[in-house]
Amino acid sequence: MGKGFSASTIKSWFQYRCERKVRYELSSDVELAAIPIVKDVREKPWAILGNQFEERVVRRLSHESSVLKPSFGDDALSEVLTGAFLRGKRPEAYAAQMNLRPSGPASFLEGTGLYLNRNLADLIRRSPSATYPGRTELTIIDVKATRRATAFHKTQVAFYARVLQALLQEMKVSDTSISRTGEIWRIKDDGSASSDEWQVEAFALDPYIRLVDDFCANHLPEIAAKQVGVGVDRTFFHVYFKCEQCSFLEHCRSAIDDHNSPSTRDVSAVAGLTHEAKRSLQRLGVTSVGNLATAKGLAQAPGISWSLSRRAGLLINRAASLASGSILRTEEQNTYLMPPRIDAALIISVDHDPVDDRIAALGYRRIDHGVIQNEVIKVARSGDTRDEIAAIVDVLAALIADLTAIDTHNEAVDGDDDRSVYAHILFYEPSEVLNLQTAIGRHLEDERIRTGLLHLVRLFPPDDLVPEPEFRGVHHLPATAMRTVIEQLWALPVTVAYDLRQVSQAVFGRDDPRAYKPTPQFERPFSSLLSIDIVRDLRENGEVRTTFDDVRNDVADRLSALQALTNWTLEQNRQATTKGKALLRLSKRPFRFQATFDPLNAVDLDVLLACELLENRAGMLDALINLARPAQRRRDSGKCFANLYFRDAQKKGGKVFIQFDVPIESQSAELNAGEFGLILTDDDPDNRLNPALWPAFTCRIRPPSNSSLAQPGNLRLEMPRTIFEGPLFQSVLQRNARNNWFVDKAFFDVNTDRAARFLSYLAAGENR
Ligand code: SF4
Repeated sequence: MGKGFSASTIKSWFQYRCERKVRYELSSDVELAAIPIVKDVREKPWAILGNQFEERVVRRLSHESSVLKPSFGDDALSEVLTGAFLRGKRPEAYAAQMNLRPSGPASFLEGTGLYLNRNLADLIRRSPSATYPGRTELTIIDVKATRRATAFHKTQVAFYARVLQALLQEMKVSDTSISRTGEIWRIKDDGSASSDEWQVEAFALDPYIRLVDDFCANHLPEIAAKQVGVGVDRTFFHVYFKCEQCSFLEHCRSAIDDHNSPSTRDVSAVAGLTHEAKRSLQRLGVTSVGNLATAKGLAQAPGISWSLSRRAGLLINRAASLASGSILRTEEQNTYLMPPRIDAALIISVDHDPVDDRIAALGYRRIDHGVIQNEVIKVARSGDTRDEIAAIVDVLAALIADLTAIDTHNEAVDGDDDRSVYAHILFYEPSEVLNLQTAIGRHLEDERIRTGLLHLVRLFPPDDLVPEPEFRGVHHLPATAMRTVIEQLWALPVTVAYDLRQVSQAVFGRDDPRAYKPTPQFERPFSSLLSIDIVRDLRENGEVRTTFDDVRNDVADRLSALQALTNWTLEQNRQATTKGKALLRLSKRPFRFQATFDPLNAVDLDVLLACELLENRAGMLDALINLARPAQRRRDSGKCFANLYFRDAQKKGGKVFIQFDVPIESQSAELNAGEFGLILTDDDPDNRLNPALWPAFTCRIRPPSNSSLAQPGNLRLEMPRTIFEGPLFQSVLQRNARNNWFVDKAFFDVNTDRAARFLSYLAAGENR
C-alpha cells in the first residue's frame, strides 16, 4: 500500500532531522498500533495555542479584509470554492484552510510510490502580480504562534508552494502564478500570544523550495522504504534534547531508559552524541553504551569525522561513567571558567517562554559562606512586556543592591584580602544567561533599567551593545554557567543531557535532599527548566492545574540544587588543590563594579577605548581558557607543539637557538615563524596558566634558513639569553631534561595601555 504524507511530515524532517519520525508519520495510527509503536496522541498545548492564535488572526483579518472561509462545520474549504478562488471567480482577497491536494499524482513525487494527504494552507492571498502586469499572484501564508519564524516553518510554506503549483497545473489555470515570496504571520514583537495582532515575516521561497525538492527526491523514498513491522524496525533514530516534543518519545526512550542495564542501553543515551556521530559509530558496530565505553582507539578509527575523532575521548569517558554508574574525571585538568574562592554566591535562575519569547520566571538567591542572605523569586503573570520588566526589576534590583553593598565594603577594606568579599554569579544553563541578556536588551528604553539597573546592563550586555571590557577579563569575569564547568571536569552517569535534575541526582544520589527532585508535573526528560506545557497552561488557563506558588517552589528547589552543586565543586577543588592539582583556576579579584564607560550613552571615543580594552581583556581570557585545555586537545586544534624532544641549544650573542624534534602528531600545528606571544614550557599548569610567569618562558619560532627547506619534524626556536639562563627556565630545564617540551600561544599585549592613554587624552580634550 502506498504511503501518504503532508506538509507536517516535511516540517518534522527539517525540525528533527529524524528518519524514524518521518517513517512513522508515513504509517497510519492503526499500522503503528499493530507493531506496537506507542504514539502520544494528546494534543500538545502549543498546538492548541497555535490553532487559537490562527483563529484570532483570521477573525481579525475578516474584519479588515475579505476572507473566503470553510462552511460552518467544515475544517477545509470545499473543492468548488477552492476552484473558484484559484480561477479568480471569487471576490475575496484571502482564502483560509484551502486543501491544496491535486486529485492526480503530483509530478514532483513521480517514482517515489508516495501520495499526498490533505494539505491545508492557513491563508492564500490573491493579488495583481507586481512582476507580471495583467497576471494574478497567489501568496502562501502560514500563521504561527511564535515570535521567530524558523527554517522548518519556511520549508512547510515552500512545500505548499510545490503542491499548489501541481494543483494549478491540474486545473489548467495559466494566468496565475505563485509569489516567490512566502509569508509567516507571527506574534508581534511587542504583542503577546493571546492577542489577535500579527507581524508579517516575508522570505524568499526559492532556497526553501530547493531544500524540499532535495528531500522529496533524495531522502523521502529511501526513508519510506525502511522496513517497520512486528519485531522489525530498520529506521535510524537518535534520542536527543529535541525529542521531548515528539509524540514517539515514549517508544524511543525505551531503548535508553532504566529498564535496560546501563551497558545494553542504546548509544543515544550518551550525552553530547550527535546524529552524525551515532551513524559513524553504527558503521563501526558501536551500538550500545557498553560498546562505546570500551571503544579504545576510536579516535584513530578509519573513516570517522574529525569532530568525532576530537570528541572520542570525552564520549568514551561519558559512556564508561554511564555503564559503571560512577562519577569519572574527564581529561581536562582544570577550568578557567570558575574561581576557587566564592565568599558570596549569587545564584540566578531564568525560565523562558519560547512562545511569547519572554521571561517566564526569575529567581535570585545570595548565599554568604553557606548562609542564605537574600532570596527573591518572581513568576511573570503573563507574556506582556510590563510583566517581564516587573520581574526583571524586582528580582535583579536585589542582585544589584547586594553587589552595591559588596562593592562598598570592598572599597572600604582597601585591598585587605582576608576581609574582602569575593562575589560570583552562578547560573546553571548557559542558555539562561543568553535569555537574560536578550530580555535586558528588550527594555533598554525603560527608565528603571537605563538608570537604576545600568550596572545590570554592564554585567549582562545585550548583543548590540559594546560590553564592559573589565567584565570580559580574568579579574572580573562576573558569572559562570555551572553546567559547562561540570561537563568540562566530570563524566557523570546521566542520560542524553547534563540537566540539573540528572546531574544533581548523579552527584548526590537520587533521594538526597540536596538533589533537585521535581514534582511530577515539573519533571522533564532532558531539561530542568520550566516546560512550555506549564508556562502555557498557566498563561492560558490560569491556576487550574499549576499555581504560581508551585512554580515559585520549583524555582527555589532548583536554586537549592545549584547552590549544593556549587559547594560540591568548590569542595572537589579544595581536595584536588591539596594534591597540587587545582581544578578551578579563574583568579578573580574581590568584586568591584566596573564602569569604563556608559554603554547606553557612549560617544565614538568611548567605544574606541572600550574596544581597545576589550581586545586586551578578552584576548587574555581566551588565551588562558585555551591553555587550560589538555595538551592533546591543544595540539589537535593546531594551537600547540606538544611532546617535543630537546635536541640541542647553541648560544650566540644575546640569543640562544634551540632545536627540537617534532612528533608526527604535532607536525600540523598552526604556530608560525615570527609569531608573537609564544611560550616554551614543560606543560606544568603552574607555569602555563600564570600570565605573570609567561615572560620567563617567551620564545619565537625561527624561519627556515635560505639553505634549508622547512622540515616538519624539526622545530627551531630562539630565546633571549637572559630568559634561557634565568632561574625559572633553568629550573624547568634541570627537571625536564630532553623529553616533553611544549610550545603554546600565550598572550602579550604591549599596545593597549598606550592606546588607552592616548584615547583618554583625546576624550579629555573633547570635554575641555
Ligand atoms: S523521539 Fe526522537 S528519535 Fe524518536 S522518533 Fe521522535 S525525534 Fe525520532
